[in-house]
Amino acid sequence: MSDNSHEGKRESTVGKVYLVGSGPGDPDLLTVKAKRLLEEADVVLHDKLPGPEILGMIPEEKREDVGKRAGGEWTPQEYTNTRLVETAQQGNVVVRLKGGDPTVFGRGGEEMVHLANNGIPFEIVPGITSAIAGPEAAGIPVTHRDYVSSVSFVTGHEDPTKDESAVDWEALANTGGTIVVLMGVGKLPGYTDELLKYGMAPDTPVALIERATWPDQRVATGTLDTIVDVRDSEGIEPPAITVIGEVAGERERVVEFLEGA
Ligand code: SAH
Repeated sequence: MSDNSHEGKRESTVGKVYLVGSGPGDPDLLTVKAKRLLEEADVVLHDKLPGPEILGMIPEEKREDVGKRAGGEWTPQEYTNTRLVETAQQGNVVVRLKGGDPTVFGRGGEEMVHLANNGIPFEIVPGITSAIAGPEAAGIPVTHRDYVSSVSFVTGHEDPTKDESAVDWEALANTGGTIVVLMGVGKLPGYTDELLKYGMAPDTPVALIERATWPDQRVATGTLDTIVDVRDSEGIEPPAITVIGEVAGERERVVEFLEGA
């Protein structure tokens, strides 16, 4: 229930927050619901990840950037949480727009709890995650009936060598499944080393998909023991997806006929 102590605000004036996934960047990959909500919203709080094409669809006066600020600092999550609550308490329909899906490494879970704790009605609107759409955009299926029956989505952001790393690279090296790493450009040398150390074959195919489905998408491929050099020579930068596993080799078989890849 909402807090009625705010002067002059009655419960009925409280708006609503939609935690919306934008998909990987191509506006045609927005859900019908996401598109409708962007049109209906009074305020759209976003970062840069939805990409220039989707952000360009939102009228300037509705947009509020809560991503990286000039100078490279991230907007503190507390600030975003506060803005979500206050804009909703002013009676607005608020869209919190996130790249991909809102709960896949998107802090949707934290924001949801913050909204609930403050009595703000909310809804989660799923989006197509870059963890699946990114590989697909490069001609890579994340599973394959013939040889891969599991896929793991992991963050590459943590230092893979630190003892308390929440990602168990040893276990991942032994699943035999596809590994999809998000936020994994900078620490690529660390986790590829870990996977090699724990026994993955050096010639395991690896692909990097940069700005998947954006107009300037790029794909770079190599193997577990060459991909760091490939990243450096191609100058691959975030946002990019790393796909590790036999499936990454499928690209070669189809790329000639794959539009846009
Ligand atoms: N919620 C998002 C992920 C947020 S974490 C989702 O479901 O897609 C941020 C990471 O997502 C980036 O570092 C990158 O690894 C990945 N990412 C998001 N959009 C991407 C895109 N269009 N192309 C490549 N990687 C992307």
